[in-house]
Amino acid sequence: MSPSHQAGPAAGSAPAAQAGATPPAGDPAAHDFDLFVIGAGSGGVRAARIAAGYGARVAVAEESRYGGTCVIRGCVPKKLLVYGSRFAEDFADAAGFGWQVAPPRFDWSTLIANKDREIARLEGLYRGNLEKAGVTLFPERAVLVGSHRLRLTGSGREVTAARILIATGGRPVVPAGIEGADLAIVSDQAFDLPALPGRIVILGAGYIALEFACIFRGLGAEVTVVARGKGLLRGFDSELAAKLATAMQARGITLRLGSAPEAIARKGPGEALVVTLADGSRLEADEVMLATGRAPNTAGLGLEAAGLDVAPSSPIPVDAFSRTAVPHLFAVGDVTDRLALTPVAIREGHAFADTQFGDRPWVVDYEDVPTAVFTTPEMGTVGLTEEEAVQRHAVVDIYRADFRTMKATLSGSAERVFMKVLVDASSDRLLGVHLLGPDSGELVQVLATLLKVGATKADLDRTMPLHPSAAEELMTLRTRSERRFGPGTAADR
Ligand code: FAD
Repeated sequence: MSPSHQAGPAAGSAPAAQAGATPPAGDPAAHDFDLFVIGAGSGGVRAARIAAGYGARVAVAEESRYGGTCVIRGCVPKKLLVYGSRFAEDFADAAGFGWQVAPPRFDWSTLIANKDREIARLEGLYRGNLEKAGVTLFPERAVLVGSHRLRLTGSGREVTAARILIATGGRPVVPAGIEGADLAIVSDQAFDLPALPGRIVILGAGYIALEFACIFRGLGAEVTVVARGKGLLRGFDSELAAKLATAMQARGITLRLGSAPEAIARKGPGEALVVTLADGSRLEADEVMLATGRAPNTAGLGLEAAGLDVAPSSPIPVDAFSRTAVPHLFAVGDVTDRLALTPVAIREGHAFADTQFGDRPWVVDYEDVPTAVFTTPEMGTVGLTEEEAVQRHAVVDIYRADFRTMKATLSGSAERVFMKVLVDASSDRLLGVHLLGPDSGELVQVLATLLKVGATKADLDRTMPLHPSAAEELMTLRTRSERRFGPGTAADR
C-alpha cells in the first residue's frame, strides 16, 4: 500500500485482446486535451502520468488534495496512527527483557502534527510527479457538461477532451435511520480530531471500523464497537475474524455485536454523546464514529450530460478495460464496483493508460489479491476463505497453527499467532492462506506469489524453515487439522 508502489504492466496482468484500445471519437486534435482525468487519487495519478509518458496531452482536476483518499485520509495516515498505537504494547513488553521504562505519556497533537507533515510531503511528491510528467493541473472540481466537455467549477472555465477518465473515488456513507447521525464523525475527521477522545463508540464491523478501534484503544481510549451483524469483517474468513474478535476483546475493546444503533444525542451543551441501541441500552462517549460503508463519488458529476446513465452514488459499470457504456468515457478505482484497494486502483489506471495511449492492451488480474487488516493483532489474507474453498472445491484440507509468539515467552504478554492454510486435496494446490499476528500483512504479500504460481502444500513442505521465526510454522504444518467436503460430494451427502 506504499504510495511509491510501482505496478508494472507485465506484473499481475493478463494477456488482453487488441480489442482493448478504443478509437477516440472524432479528431483528438480538435480537443483541448487527449485525456482529462477527474480526480488525482491512486488511479487517476497513475493513469495521467503513464498516458503523458506516451506523449498524450493530459489534464487532471482535483477538488481536494493531490494523492486522494489513500495518501490524505486513508491507508497512509492510518498506518502512521497504527504505528503510533502499537508503542503501548512495546513499552509493556520491554520489562520482561530487562528494560525499565518510566510510565510513558502519549501526546496526540505531536502524533497528528508529525502525520500531517508527512502527508504534506507526500502530497507535494504526487503533485511534483504530475508536473514533471507534463500534466496540466486544475486544482478544482470538474464536472461533465457535455459529451467531451467539462466545466471547472472553481474558475468556471470549460475544456474538452478526446477521452475522459473518471477516477473520483469514494466517500464515507452516513447511514439513514440513525437519529442524530450528524453528531458523529467519519474516518475523514478521525485523522484530525483536536484531542484523543477518552471514550469512543465506533459503529461498523468492517476493516476501517476495526482498525480505528485498535488505534484508539492502543492510544489509551475506552473503545466500544457496535455492529448489527453477529460477526466482524464480512467477506473475510470467518474463523480468522472470530479469532480477531477474541484478541480485540482481550485488549479491552468492548464488542456489541448484533446491536442496532438507533440514535445519537448530546447529553447537554459541551457534554458527552449518548448512543441509544435498539435494545434500549445507552452508551456514553466523547466521540462517535460512523464506519458503516463507503459510496462512489458519482453524485453531481454530470454523468448524464455525457450520456452515461448511473444512479446517484452508485458505482459506474465498466468492462475489463475500464470502459463505460460511452466509448470515450472510462472509470477506474473506487468509483467502480471492483476491489476498493489502492494497488488495484493504481493498476487499473496503469492498464487503462497502456491500453488507450501505449498500444499495449492488458487487463487487471483480480485473483488472489492479498489484503491486510491493520488491527492489533494484524490480519493478512490471500486467496479463498474457508467458506469459499468448501463451496468451490470437492475436498479441502485445512491446516492450522495456533501458538504463543516467542517474544511473549519473556514479555509475559498473551500475544498469539494463528495461521490457516487451505489446500485443494485433489491437486494439492494452495487455495488460501489466512494469518493473524505480528507482521501478517508483510508475510501475506510474499505468500500471494505462491498462490499466483500455483504452489502446492508439497512445495511448502520441501522449503527449508527459517529458524527461529513465526513464518517457519507454515513450512512445518505436518498434520492436517480438518478435511471438509464441498456440496454434492459423497462425504457431504
Ligand atoms: P481516491 O484515492 O479516493 O481519489 C479520488 C480523488 O478524486 C480524490 O482526491 C477526490 O478529492 C477527487 N475528486 C472527486 N470528485 C472530484 C471532482 N468532481 N473533481 C475533481 N476531483 C474530484 N486501501 C488499501 O489498499 N490499503 C489500505 O490499508 C487502505 N486503508 C484505507 C483506510 C481508510 C480510512 C480509507 C477510507 C480507505 C483505505 N483504503 C485502503 C482504500 C483506498 O484508499 C482506496 O481504494 C483508493 O484511494 C482508491 O483510489 P481512487 O483513485 O479510486 O480514488
